[in-house]
Amino acid sequence: MSNRRIQSPDDPALDVLCERLAGLAGDLDRSGEWPAEQLALCRDFGVLEWFFPVEVGGQGWSESDIVRGELRLSAACLTTMFVLTQWSGACRRIVACDNESLRQRLIPDLIRGREFATLGISHLTTSRRHLGKPALSAEETPHGFRLNGFSPWVTGGRHAQTIVMGAEMADGRRVMLAMPTDLPGVRSGDDAQLVALSASHTGPIHCSDVLMSRDALVAGPSEDAMAGARGSNTGGIQTSTLAIGLAGAAIDFLFAEAEKREDLSAPAGGFAAELADVRGDLLAAAVGEQRCTTQTLRTRANSLVLRATQAALAAAKGTGYVVGHPTGRWCREALFFLVWSCPQQVMAANLCELAGLSE
Ligand SMILES: Cc1cc2nc3c(=O)[nH]c(=O)nc-3n(C[C@H](O)[C@H](O)[C@H](O)COP(=O)(O)OP(=O)(O)OC[C@H]3O[C@@H](n4cnc5c(N)ncnc54)[C@H](O)[C@@H]3O)c2cc1C
Repeated sequence: MSNRRIQSPDDPALDVLCERLAGLAGDLDRSGEWPAEQLALCRDFGVLEWFFPVEVGGQGWSESDIVRGELRLSAACLTTMFVLTQWSGACRRIVACDNESLRQRLIPDLIRGREFATLGISHLTTSRRHLGKPALSAEETPHGFRLNGFSPWVTGGRHAQTIVMGAEMADGRRVMLAMPTDLPGVRSGDDAQLVALSASHTGPIHCSDVLMSRDALVAGPSEDAMAGARGSNTGGIQTSTLAIGLAGAAIDFLFAEAEKREDLSAPAGGFAAELADVRGDLLAAAVGEQRCTTQTLRTRANSLVLRATQAALAAAKGTGYVVGHPTGRWCREALFFLVWSCPQQVMAANLCELAGLSE
């Protein structure tokens, strides 16, 4: 079949891609195999180009178009979309950096899907922060940096040629480096067996005396080296986008069931109204109109996705509880949003809601 490059979120080719991804999602969940076929489909349909500016050969989609595209892809296959978030997070940081030779070296292969890149930064944002000691340290050398330690959660690390890796120096400054995975001293640990999304092949990347030259610098050394490109802030709108996308899939399922079962109409309608509200605020945020903070948006998205997926399972009854039914998988996938890049305030708000303490 000849594929067409998707030119906008309203392009019918996006429907074709989503149908293909949704058709593969159940097997992907069961096999836990890396979504190579899904990523190749995304490449062939031009999805990788959305995230790059026109000057470097991308389609330069606006933030709101990207959000609309990501909403559709996460409803179709959350694992594929999640892997793409880590890839796009790495690419955006490379595109936004001042290191021209690095940009020229990496961007052409990333945009064409010839190489895969991912992110290893959570140890500087949301993971292991209470331990008081950097999980991955960088020491300045005459030519660059020496890395020691590990990044605990790297999605697709063993499939990547480049990992955009954050590390902390003894004086508290940070660096972000585009680390080639074939350097001596880089080793991937075993992938975590996850409640869902195991096909994302997420696991630790260990660094033992890894020597990197300054040509690999994406940002820093500075205290705010982790700030920058979209998607870089924990609890930013991309995490909410994926949660809202998955909630949309569950709510569509409820509506389809409600066509045959009148008793489902009221809850389906209630969820649809809430989805329209939170989706509207998400799309407003994507064009810079902040109707609520990104953390409130994430809290609402988390709440919606957990309730909507469970409502879909309840509607599917025991049939939905059998392995292979999408509603059971969606429930497991929704749990991911309780832990993924979840800032303290969002976690606290989620816990209060779960404890029945929210007003
Ligand atoms: C499937 C998956 C994929 C991911 N992919 C990526 C990726 O590609 N790139 C990336 O950079 N990140 C990634 N992440 C990381 C993610 O964004 C979060 O950083 C991560 O979920 C934080 O969990 P943690 O267990 O490391 O948190 P931690 O805060 O390190 O908690 C670990 C344990 O420490 C204990 N603890 C926590 N806080 C305290 C405290 N204050 N005092 C005492 N004990 C405490 C708790 O018992 C907890 O179980 C991924 C995560 C998951 C689950």
